[in-house]
Amino acid sequence: MDATPLPAANDAPPAAAGEEGRVTPLMEQYVEIKAANPDCLLFYRMGDFYELFFGDAEVASRALGIVLTKRGKHRGQDIPMCGVPVERADDYLHRLIALGHRVAVCEQIEDPAEARKRGGKSVVRRDVVRLVTPGTLTEDSLLDAKRNNYLVAIARAKLSADGDSAFALAFLDISTGEFRLVECDRNGLPAELARLEPGEIIVSDALYGDAELAPLLRALPVTPLGRDVFDGASAERRLASYFAVATTDAFGALSRLELTAAAACVTYVERTQIGKRPPLSPPTREAAGATLAIDAATRTNLELMRTQTGDRRGSMIGAIDRTVTVAGARLLSQRLAAPLTDPTAIGRRLDSVELFSTDAPLRGDVRERLAAAPDLARALARLVVGRGGPRDLAAIRDGLYAAAQLRARLAATPAVAEIIEAMAALDRPDPAIAAELAAALGAELPLFKRDGGFVGTQYDPALDETRALRDESRRVVAALQARYADGTQVKSLKIRHNNVLGYFVEVTAQHGDKLMNPPWNATFIHRQTLAGQVRFTSTELGALEAKIANAADRALGLELEIFDRLAARVIAAADEIKAAAHALAAIDVTVALAELAVERAYVRPQVDASRDFVIMGGRHPVVEQAIGRDGGPFVANDCDLSPPQAGAAGRIYLVTGPNMAGKSTYLRQNALIAVLAQIGSFVPAREARIGVVDRLFSRVGAADDLARGRSTFMVEMVETAAILNQANERSLVILDEIGRGTATFDGLSIAWAAIEHLHEQNRCRALFATHFHELTALAAKLPRLFNATVRVKEWQGDVVFLHEVVPGAADRSYGIQVAKLAGLPGKVIERAKLVLAELEAEDRMSPARHLIDDLPLFSAAARGPAPPANPAIEAVMKALAALHPDEMSPREAMEALYALKLLAKPRS
Ligand code: ADP
Ligand code: MG
Repeated sequence: MDATPLPAANDAPPAAAGEEGRVTPLMEQYVEIKAANPDCLLFYRMGDFYELFFGDAEVASRALGIVLTKRGKHRGQDIPMCGVPVERADDYLHRLIALGHRVAVCEQIEDPAEARKRGGKSVVRRDVVRLVTPGTLTEDSLLDAKRNNYLVAIARAKLSADGDSAFALAFLDISTGEFRLVECDRNGLPAELARLEPGEIIVSDALYGDAELAPLLRALPVTPLGRDVFDGASAERRLASYFAVATTDAFGALSRLELTAAAACVTYVERTQIGKRPPLSPPTREAAGATLAIDAATRTNLELMRTQTGDRRGSMIGAIDRTVTVAGARLLSQRLAAPLTDPTAIGRRLDSVELFSTDAPLRGDVRERLAAAPDLARALARLVVGRGGPRDLAAIRDGLYAAAQLRARLAATPAVAEIIEAMAALDRPDPAIAAELAAALGAELPLFKRDGGFVGTQYDPALDETRALRDESRRVVAALQARYADGTQVKSLKIRHNNVLGYFVEVTAQHGDKLMNPPWNATFIHRQTLAGQVRFTSTELGALEAKIANAADRALGLELEIFDRLAARVIAAADEIKAAAHALAAIDVTVALAELAVERAYVRPQVDASRDFVIMGGRHPVVEQAIGRDGGPFVANDCDLSPPQAGAAGRIYLVTGPNMAGKSTYLRQNALIAVLAQIGSFVPAREARIGVVDRLFSRVGAADDLARGRSTFMVEMVETAAILNQANERSLVILDEIGRGTATFDGLSIAWAAIEHLHEQNRCRALFATHFHELTALAAKLPRLFNATVRVKEWQGDVVFLHEVVPGAADRSYGIQVAKLAGLPGKVIERAKLVLAELEAEDRMSPARHLIDDLPLFSAAARGPAPPANPAIEAVMKALAALHPDEMSPREAMEALYALKLLAKPRS
């Protein structure tokens, strides 16, 4: 907890003029700046603190747990105030941003001495230098090193009056400079947002108020902005101006909608950075459909980025990440969030993973060089926006050296497209930059440039000279102390320094009198008496102090000049450095995937444009590792969803088996293997052939979503509806225990109809796990439905899980055996067995068998209900069937016709 200090001496403190009704000049300035930033907490710089006043102070003190004080009066009222020390502001910012606040940082923009010159009551000029918002952060302390932090702008065009819309998303990470565009429709929007996990989304007020989008947007960190930011007419001009180009033609043919979204992004960046322009790459567009569409529910379900409880550990990324740099970790996350759909592009990535996987020494060497590479992209971004420090320059130096060394090590590798590309990028930065930085920077670097001492010796002769002078003076102070101590015979006399008095002579209280009386009072001038000490100055000490201060000031001034020169040189090479940084990250990801492949015995999948899906000996990438730690073996399983014959659609596996058998694991592992294959990774299987998947859906029955206020079953049905409406022949669908959230017959009926729909209408590849073993009867009617079951063994009344998926159907649920394993009391188990026996005597299977025989297929059902049975029709049909026209005379035929007519006559 921080005590709030007095306002800086240079300001007229609010208290000084706090008479009833009067507004102090300081408050006047504050109120004006606050009024210009009403939606932000205002960090108002006063000396070494950022102060917050009024409502902001109340909000911040509560959020940060810091003391709320009062300072002076404003219009007769107390002014609530709290403050955070500048040195630790990042920490507090982090917490406020995480809580969803926005902060305007207001600095003193002139030397307080200047203000004093204007007169006693003058207030130091201040201005907001930056708005800190969740989507526009650059500080390492505010960012997760292993994840991108995207700012996303959504622009919409209404295509028709009935609400059909097209969307363009522009997204950028100002901490790394990535800037891309993607278009989608209303259905695709949630999946895109789920992929990007934006730190902040900006939309126009109109879009924010749209009733249809409200449920989606309200759950996300959205900042609504005025219409001007999303103005289509000025979009191209604003975008071109950010990149200082005459037209945006060089960015490719961007639609008006894309231009609007991109311009909104850069306009917002300029607004929050107050005119500074972080080094963004020109916006590149992602082709529609270039990535595997995975909606939010599926991502959560498959635990791609975090587990259901929010941890990275235990998630897919946690299981596969072997990168050694944070930039590599970010790129791997990006790739996992957006697997590819183009078999050629996937093949290119697999080629380089394969290359590294076969050469262990190369992998080792490359990873060693990579590990020496700091986060180039983020250091660069900070330098450009003027928030960089000496350590950022060092990061550039080390990163560029690592790049050069990596480049040299890769020179001898076989020519694989991705590596050739990376080498070209690593070659781009001028080696002289790293050399210059190396020559300039000292060994110990402070975090802030204002602390000085970061330029090494023998780099700048003028600096060396000034420093010598400064250090010399310090020696002179030591000599003076010795002389004074000798002369006065006060052995404990010390020369000390603090920020209030500067240098002073200090003696203990008992010697104070001596120095205040002749002859010593001619030399020493009394300054301060404390409880235990008395403090003095002297003319000689004063002169010395001025000399020291001057030398130190000059040294710092020189260092800051050198810093600016070095930073400018780095900034001028921003494009080349960014390219090298990206190449480092790409190589890191590739080598990490190769390392993973070797470590866990993954194989190269074959990814093509077919609809095949054959996984032999597949394993679950996460569960396998978790089980491995406990020593147990993971049982590998096959899966073949390929179309049974050429031209047909893919198959549906209906997986039955008791609880705990391994159904869910099996379903997910096949989905995860497809994801891995499409990010260009090897996969945990003996063999894999995958016809590229365009959309992946995964749902689990009865998942709770109480946070969003929907009943469990409602969520399950909403999600199932999305799949049945959207999946196509290229999609892969995982449905786990759908229908579990309601009564048995309801659930069974819904599951039944859903399978028929998937088979007849969606025609997608699918895995459907169910505990309704009645559903297995459907295989008789649906030619591409395949029954599979997870084997269990009964042994002395207990069930033993074999985790082995085999063709066929589970004969029963084994629920009671599983309950017994779970420790249900013996009496309950015995009673349950009795009840089950009774129920089974009534043959629960038979109603399902009837259904199979009697219910028309889904497609037929879609045409309309079957007419009710009519005895007359049945009689006519029977009679017709008994006739043999070839053997009849004309007369017999005539008689038969009359007989039929009679049968058809309604009975009274
Ligand atoms: P179900 O969905 O059938 O109830 P799960 O898939 O949740 O079963 O699996 C239950 C547990 O069994 C898992 O937590 C895992 O530890 C273990 N398991 C599942 N599949 C395998 C396997 N193939 N090999 C080894 N253990 C497995
Ligand atoms: Mg399960």
